Amino acid sequence: MRISRLYLPASLTLGAEVELDDRARQYVLQVLRLRPGAALILFNGRGDEYTARLILAEKRRATVLLDEKHSPERESPLAIHLGLGISKGERMDYAIQKAVELGATEITPLFSQHCVVRLDEKRIQNRLRHWQAIIISACEQCGRNRLADLHAPMTFSRWIEMDNAEIDLILAPQASQVLGQIHPPPQQLRLAIGPEGGFSDEEIAAATAGGFTAVSLGPRILRTETAVVAGLSALQTLWGDLNRHA
Ligand code: SAH
Repeated sequence: MRISRLYLPASLTLGAEVELDDRARQYVLQVLRLRPGAALILFNGRGDEYTARLILAEKRRATVLLDEKHSPERESPLAIHLGLGISKGERMDYAIQKAVELGATEITPLFSQHCVVRLDEKRIQNRLRHWQAIIISACEQCGRNRLADLHAPMTFSRWIEMDNAEIDLILAPQASQVLGQIHPPPQQLRLAIGPEGGFSDEEIAAATAGGFTAVSLGPRILRTETAVVAGLSALQTLWGDLNRHA
């Protein structure tokens, strides 16, 4: 059986006994139903992972012993900051999950002109907690030992005005350029992908005026969540680690 990986935001050191937080304890005891002696992998988002053994499993308290430390490199040499138009519920959840699996290092949810989702401050905080939980479970599942950074949602117009990356790209079906025409290969980039309704012509013009290059992913219009998967896969194949030996 595959050993379960768990994110634990705590200080982890080899040989230490560490108490699981509520989330990890409930998962270990109620979902996995592990007993003392069972093996786990723990990571705290700082790059290392530890094999651990459950030594105490009580209803309100569970502790593990960290008995081996490993530092596998599962981060891509290409750092991708995804600016993603906020789409509805599950579509956005799926997009965030897949972006993490495909190695995005930063994610900023964006309010744009054709965005149909409206969120007040309280709902923004709830969404952020929800998206953060998706990021954590995607990292647990895919083996990443660093969490993608989730930034607070902001407007598209503000995001494009932030510091430029080595290359700033905006995915637009009508663009005349494609990814293969971008030179030289960057190590770090920002990628804007529109919500269900796409970006307006005005937004694409503002982005290009701000140093973004509009690129197409081919002749078919992809749904926003498909564009995330296709766009990140193409980037990681061209300049990242999708086509590279470990
Ligand atoms: N009706 C919208 C489609 C939006 S699709 C329109 O015509 O613009 C959602 C987002 O996915 C788009 O804003 C774009 O960022 C990306 N996208 C979808 N298909 C694409 C393609 N073929 N090339 C580039 N980007 C694409």
